[in-house]
Amino acid sequence: MKTDFLIIGSGIAGLSLGLRLSEFGKVIIITKKKKAESNTNYAQGGIASVLDKEDNFDLHIKDTIECGAGLCNIKAVETIVKEGPSSIYELLALGVKFTKDEHGNLKLGREGGHSKNRIVHARDLTGKEIERVLLHKVSKNPKITVLEYHFAIELLTIRNIKPEYRKYFKDKHICYGAYTLNAKTGKVEKIIAGKTILATGGLGQVYLHTTNPAIATGDGFALGYRAGCELANMEFVQFHPTSLYQKDVDEETQVFLISEAVRGAGAILKDKKGKEFMHKYDKRKSLAPRDIVARAIDCELKKTGENFVYLDATVIGAERIKKEFPNIYQQCLNRGIDITKSMIPVVPAAHYSCGGLKVNIEGKTNIKNLYACGEVAMTGVHGANRLASNSLLEAVVFSKKIFESIKQEHSKNNKKNNKLNLDKIEKCIFNWSDKGTVNAEEWILIKHNKLEIKEIMSDYVGIVRSTYRLKRALRRIKMMKDEIKEFYDRTKVNVPLLELRNLVTVAYIIIKSAMKRKESRGLHYMLDYPERDDKNFKKDTIIYKRIKI
Ligand SMILES: Cc1cc2nc3c(=O)[nH]c(=O)nc-3n(C[C@H](O)[C@H](O)[C@H](O)COP(=O)(O)OP(=O)(O)OC[C@H]3O[C@@H](n4cnc5c(N)ncnc54)[C@H](O)[C@@H]3O)c2cc1C
Repeated sequence: MKTDFLIIGSGIAGLSLGLRLSEFGKVIIITKKKKAESNTNYAQGGIASVLDKEDNFDLHIKDTIECGAGLCNIKAVETIVKEGPSSIYELLALGVKFTKDEHGNLKLGREGGHSKNRIVHARDLTGKEIERVLLHKVSKNPKITVLEYHFAIELLTIRNIKPEYRKYFKDKHICYGAYTLNAKTGKVEKIIAGKTILATGGLGQVYLHTTNPAIATGDGFALGYRAGCELANMEFVQFHPTSLYQKDVDEETQVFLISEAVRGAGAILKDKKGKEFMHKYDKRKSLAPRDIVARAIDCELKKTGENFVYLDATVIGAERIKKEFPNIYQQCLNRGIDITKSMIPVVPAAHYSCGGLKVNIEGKTNIKNLYACGEVAMTGVHGANRLASNSLLEAVVFSKKIFESIKQEHSKNNKKNNKLNLDKIEKCIFNWSDKGTVNAEEWILIKHNKLEIKEIMSDYVGIVRSTYRLKRALRRIKMMKDEIKEFYDRTKVNVPLLELRNLVTVAYIIIKSAMKRKESRGLHYMLDYPERDDKNFKKDTIIYKRIKI
């Protein structure tokens, strides 16, 4: 297959970019499962944007930077904040039905760390509503093809060019598309693309308790790493403080999130005896930013030996709960908890990756013709901690930045006529070969390895870390990485194996990044370096693989 634009991922970032890029050529969007299955589809709270007359850009910028604990890229923050309102109007124009008040104005919610009401939402199913509309628009666009159950295995770079042709390729760091596994047929196809965009979402599944769906195995981070991309700030994994406590978890569990908006509406954290405890940790109490609340809960649990704390939403009132949080109300009811009457047992769970493939303000990675947007990208917006509801906003704004950059290039190229010749490139790239590999029967190994990685990451690289714990984790993950590589090299590719390989790679990158940051900052808390070190601190921790050709 050949295409002008190959987008990997069908969440908010990939779909909104696809719609825009179709103006300039053929777009293929590949997605590893059914097209709606994404982190986007589960987003509850909403999108942050300055729309209230009491609010202004400076306040949203200040809140974002304060939350980011000294690591935000100011330009990137200003970009998302200032382009927030127009992005919301664009989504409305596409048909997204955001919740409105009785006067027909957008209803703006409040979440932790925000000094004003600015969360645009569609009841408590914001992501699902956005995904619905974007998928509908994409399905009506004749220039966009969506391929479900197509798993990106590897990006095509100079290493995939047949040696006899390499001398014709002057630029060594350039991307030509991807090898993809068609999970339905088991065949590996190569998709040659003028531009490739990683929009593969997050990595929550590298931890045992996560709000992320099973697809969030960090594939894009691993794909980029193997191709030679720079990854930045991967130590900053956000744990959402309030996921519904679930006793048994397996290697693919997604725990149910109790949105921050519930605390925004007045719900209060309490210990098992029903006593409030957040005042001991922060003056904003239950509405403190996520890192503080998650650490406070972690500390309470360690002190008391309990498995969960409570979130008391009864104070919000039954009528308002049912009206504003119908999904959370119903999901809890399905599990036997009537949240209008009883407190909700909650624990922190891995939720969001602030780090990712380092991109500039145009969404470009350090590899030519390879872009990244959405959760897989590190634009500098979130710094050491993401402010609630800034990620959907970042995804739409930065996918627009990629579009604008490509638009500019497009008009220059049209004049010079120096577009890549995809037919020629296609001939120069190896077809996928699985010679010498076998269909392995060792599925139990994959399942156990997955669980082992998640346990190691949760035990040693979670909310509270130390040099000792990180070293212990690294030794184990390195050993597993070698074993998995050896298994991969002799096995015909399949989705569970590819995900396992990506999970272990991402675990390795997170640990390496965490070891580089010898201080506590934002989401990265080290017992042996408990203070923020503003004198010797690293701006960004960068990890990359040196590529030998
Ligand atoms: C429960 C929950 C609630 C949230 N609530 C909010 C909120 O209220 N506000 C907010 O701003 N953010 C929220 N977030 C975060 C936000 O939803 C995500 O950061 C955002 O949706 C990411 O969008 P994306 O397009 O980058 O990735 P995703 O929406 O995750 O899409 C990734 C896509 O890539 C595909 N993919 C991945 N790997 C491969 C591969 N190897 N080959 C092919 N396809 C692949 C997946 O199948 C999927 O289609 C929430 C997240 C969760 C999990």
